[in-house]
Amino acid sequence: MDYVYGPGRNHLFVPGPVNIPEPVLRAMNRNNEDYRSPAVPAMTKILLEDVKKIFKTTTGTTFMIPTTGTGAWESALTNTLSPGDRIVSFLIGQFSLLWIDQQQRLNFKVDVVESEWGQGANLDILASKLAEDTAHTIKAICIVHNETATGVTNNLAQVRRILDEYRHPALFLVDGVSSICALDFRMDEWGVDVALTGSQKALSLPTGIGIVCASPKALEASKTAKSVRVFFDWNDYLKFYKLGTYWPYTPSIQLLYGLRTALDLIFEEGLDNVIARHSRLGKATRLAVEAWGLKNCTQSEEWFSDTVTAVLVPPYIDSTEIVRRAWKRYNLSLGLGLNKIAGKVFRIGHLGNLNEVMSFSIIQILHIPSMIRNWLELGNRKGNGLIFLA
Ligand SMILES: *Cc1c(COP(=O)(O)O)cnc(C)c1O
Repeated sequence: MDYVYGPGRNHLFVPGPVNIPEPVLRAMNRNNEDYRSPAVPAMTKILLEDVKKIFKTTTGTTFMIPTTGTGAWESALTNTLSPGDRIVSFLIGQFSLLWIDQQQRLNFKVDVVESEWGQGANLDILASKLAEDTAHTIKAICIVHNETATGVTNNLAQVRRILDEYRHPALFLVDGVSSICALDFRMDEWGVDVALTGSQKALSLPTGIGIVCASPKALEASKTAKSVRVFFDWNDYLKFYKLGTYWPYTPSIQLLYGLRTALDLIFEEGLDNVIARHSRLGKATRLAVEAWGLKNCTQSEEWFSDTVTAVLVPPYIDSTEIVRRAWKRYNLSLGLGLNKIAGKVFRIGHLGNLNEVMSFSIIQILHIPSMIRNWLELGNRKGNGLIFLA
């Protein structure tokens, strides 16, 4: 019965959804409330202000939409762009691939800038495109800050420098789903126009809130953007913000209380300390991978991600089997390799509500060299099953 966990707790080490802190679980264990009562709008007003802090913005406008990261993507695109608009988008892994697919299905004209999976966005190509585009036909630059499939973090400050160098007015749209609240992110300083995240990643909540932050420039663009939008229309929210009732439709009361507690915990630890903790756990994981004699999928130090490590396994091993056996034998959930790198990598999440002992314990149990030694000694071949520290 694969759907039944063994004794003890499940050890969740995928890069989203992540572990939910106990105080957040307790805060969410409550009855529904009338969202038109005075209490819910009062709480919402403060939440909308407080979430700005995780984006490091004072000038942005925030939206908490009942959706996932994918819906937040759609909200960012359809509120700021018109069908046929030319945009530049970087394909470096499965999440950027899916966002590009959405951009194309929404009828934008996408210049796809592709890199080998394991490398970051090719910003030299961005520079040459902007240099050529003196007529300003490029309306937006779309980039995934942290590509969760490969463990690659892109350099957003550099994107801003390039935009400024060519004085290009394109909007700067950022998927921060596996970075915001875990990696250094500075909306105002980097001149990001729309940034977004999902509640089940660094915020360590259940899935269900897409948090989108729009710069004044993005809000201005939304006034003339012609993409059809209904559920994701920022205007519906803005109307209710003005009325002071805040919700055009029903929010999840439980998630709002969860978000309140999640933010309290983050502010109590200190956002910069949260980021430093991710940096420590990321570094420790990379050192373990190196000690195992295995390679990081991320090809250069400049792109190392502090929220997820994609580990390349030797060619005679199927990484899917490692993930499967970790789950069966240890009640341990690791990330699969996605798409092009399926079977070639497994992913260790070090994202969200984790501490040193939690991360260290899976590094211990996953001692890959003994696993490979066992596997070789028993003469298994790929497909015949892998002996996993059994
Ligand atoms: C998880 C993730 C998404 C998708 O979010 P959903 O909540 O599954 O829709 C998008 N981008 C990145 C970088 C992610 O890690």
